[in-house]
Amino acid sequence: MFYSSNSGEESSTKSKMEVKKKKAEQIVELKKKSQCNYCHEKGHWERECKEKKGDEKEDNTTVMLQKVESTLSAPDL
Ligand SMILES: [Zn+2]
Repeated sequence: MFYSSNSGEESSTKSKMEVKKKKAEQIVELKKKSQCNYCHEKGHWERECKEKKGDEKEDNTTVMLQKVESTLSAPDL
């Protein structure tokens, strides 16, 4: 049988991992309870919101299109 002599070190590493795991669990729980500020759906946050990302992408495209359009239809100034 093999018994590790540095079990103290091992347990401290394990407890660190446990803390990490607990934090991750807390975040998951928080996410479950939290409501998205953007689409008001539960389970994710605004910064992770797909709706927002989609809208932002759309917005960017719109802005880009507007820029292109304004460039194409250059005003006679
Ligand atoms: Zn959302």
